[in-house]
Amino acid sequence: MFKLSRYFAIASFLAIGAVITALSLYYRNNTTDALMAHQTRSNVSLAKTFANTVWPRYADFVRSASNIPKAELPQREEIVALRADILAQMEGLNIVKVKIYNLDGLTVFSTDAKQIGVDKSKNTGFQKARRGDIASSITFRNEFYAFERIIVDRNLVTSYIPVGRGGGPVEAVFELYSDVTDLVEELNQTQREIIFMVSITLGLLYLFLYLIVKRADNIIGTQAQERRENEDRVRYQAYHDSLTDLPNRVSFSERLSETVARAKRSKILVGLLYFDLDRFKVVNDSLGHDAGDQLLRVVAKRIQGVARESDMVFRMGGDEFTVILEDLRYAEDAARVAQRLIDSIAESVHLDKHEMTVTASIGIAIYPTDATDVDGLVKGADAAMYRAKQAGRNNYATYTPDLNVHAIERFTLEAELHHALKNDEFVLYYQPKVSLPGGHIVGMEALLRWNHPRLGLLLPDKFLSILEDTRLILSVGEWVIRTACKQNKLWQDAGLIHTRISINVSASQFRDKSLVNTVREILKEASLEPRFLELELTEGLLIENTRGAIEMMNELKEIGVFLSIDDFGSGYSSLNYLSRFPVDILKIDRTFINNLMTDRKDAEITHAIASLAHALKLGLIAEGVENREQLEFLQSHGCDEAQGFLFSHPVPAQEFGQMLSAENLAILHNKA
Ligand code: C2E
Ligand code: MG
Ligand code: MG
Repeated sequence: MFKLSRYFAIASFLAIGAVITALSLYYRNNTTDALMAHQTRSNVSLAKTFANTVWPRYADFVRSASNIPKAELPQREEIVALRADILAQMEGLNIVKVKIYNLDGLTVFSTDAKQIGVDKSKNTGFQKARRGDIASSITFRNEFYAFERIIVDRNLVTSYIPVGRGGGPVEAVFELYSDVTDLVEELNQTQREIIFMVSITLGLLYLFLYLIVKRADNIIGTQAQERRENEDRVRYQAYHDSLTDLPNRVSFSERLSETVARAKRSKILVGLLYFDLDRFKVVNDSLGHDAGDQLLRVVAKRIQGVARESDMVFRMGGDEFTVILEDLRYAEDAARVAQRLIDSIAESVHLDKHEMTVTASIGIAIYPTDATDVDGLVKGADAAMYRAKQAGRNNYATYTPDLNVHAIERFTLEAELHHALKNDEFVLYYQPKVSLPGGHIVGMEALLRWNHPRLGLLLPDKFLSILEDTRLILSVGEWVIRTACKQNKLWQDAGLIHTRISINVSASQFRDKSLVNTVREILKEASLEPRFLELELTEGLLIENTRGAIEMMNELKEIGVFLSIDDFGSGYSSLNYLSRFPVDILKIDRTFINNLMTDRKDAEITHAIASLAHALKLGLIAEGVENREQLEFLQSHGCDEAQGFLFSHPVPAQEFGQMLSAENLAILHNKA
């Protein structure tokens, strides 16, 4: 993480270091120069005094000293006198050594006698002074011979000074060594003090700024933290569904890709379960979105409850969920999980004081048996899910290769269905209902067919679920009611028997509040008496929204149409609700009739339904009657009416018209 204070600390220390170094260098340079200038000035004035007082006595001697043999020189009486004079002059001053050179550069005199006679003509300080200028320098000496003693660790200023009489030409060069150690020490002390003060000031400034920076750092830190948290939240939201808190479609794609990649490497099985809640729309539409949301949360919890730790559960959107089962031992294990999920979801749920059940249809696809890539796996599971739905919901289906074909077919059909109504491709077939035991036609059921341009005549099982899913059922359903009513009126006007036509109403139609008005208007438009129209409703549709359903049925009853419950006994039969609905007729589900002769239970149920209808004074009709045995059983159990292939298959209108004429009635009668 970026830490401002760290950078500040490093930068500040470097800057403070640089400032102090620069300052001390500058100070040292300046003070040394000043010290040297000062000392040079005092050396020069000393030399001047010397030149004015003592020098005239020795000038000639010094000039001619070059001619005196070097060994003799120190012993010369002039030198001895000169030494005394100089020492007298230097008394109490900080001069530690004096040397005198003649113009040849010969050391004529030195307070250090050893040096007398040494040639200094090459020395630049000497040369400069000989030309009339003054040369000074400051040096440090560990050991220095000063007069009669040796001094140590000294700072010395050396000045080469030209000397002449009364401002005349240069006659000799003096070299004076002055000891400035004390001064230098003082300067050093001052320098230390200044540096100390500056350091303290900068330190305080640093501390002050550091606190500010530290505070800024904290603010930046919290902001960064907040930003990270925000990013985390956004990322979480991008990968999770806010309603159920489950990972969403985006994470599903990623996780499935990862899992499949892993499975490819380690050669394991992966199961994909694709869920869809059956009739979730109904809950949403009838109990409201809050209840729908609540239901989805409950379902999500239940799925998570069943899933193992290694299983991954996702909400894909709407009422669709997926579970990735990683590392399956056997493909069958996926089916076992699916069954447990179905059982768990099907347990009743309390929503808003309503107790209800939802069921799920699950499609299963296995990697690598069903597909070896993510896309294929998802498509496979989805197709299997549709198969499960078609097979009656509340169950699971595993992928089989032919499902792909089905999926494509379904897709094409859906596209084509959008134009079917406009293209006039729907037709109604009619199947008679006959009275028992008489065998007279007492009604007819209108059944929808799709005259598909490519595939020929299609039965509702091929396209009804698509109509419902796409809500095309609303317009197609209206067309059915209109066509059937008009047709019935046509037959009546043609002088054929006046009888009731029944029409199947699907759940989404029934949930559409405008149904009552539609029915009313169509009856008026067709000039058909309401008593010649019957609406067949399914049990499930009544249970889904009991209160709304009763209201709707009452309104329909007010119009005067008949109401029946289709496929009775197949759904959530509850005797309790039956008495509360204003229905006229029960239509026993075909499956009971189917097994009537082979399954004792079905026979008993049929018997019970018949008794129930009688007790509640409801009409009773059996559909799917295919043989005489069934017919006889039904007759002996007091069934009023029957419908089935035994009498007639559903047939086109024209054919049915013929059946309605008197002579054909007899055929049905005979059969019965
Ligand atoms: P349903 O209302 O129970 O209709 C009776 C179904 O049983 C019809 O199938 C009919 O052909 C069939 N059937 C009649 N007698 C026998 C028999 O003796 N044996 C056998 N095995 N079957 C028999 P279909 O025409 O394929 O219709 C299937 C379902 O589609 C209908 O069941 C109904 O729920 C729905 N449906 C048909 N037309 C419409 C419609 O216009 N609107 C709506 N919403 N649903 C429709
Ligand atoms: Mg029906
Ligand atoms: Mg039926």
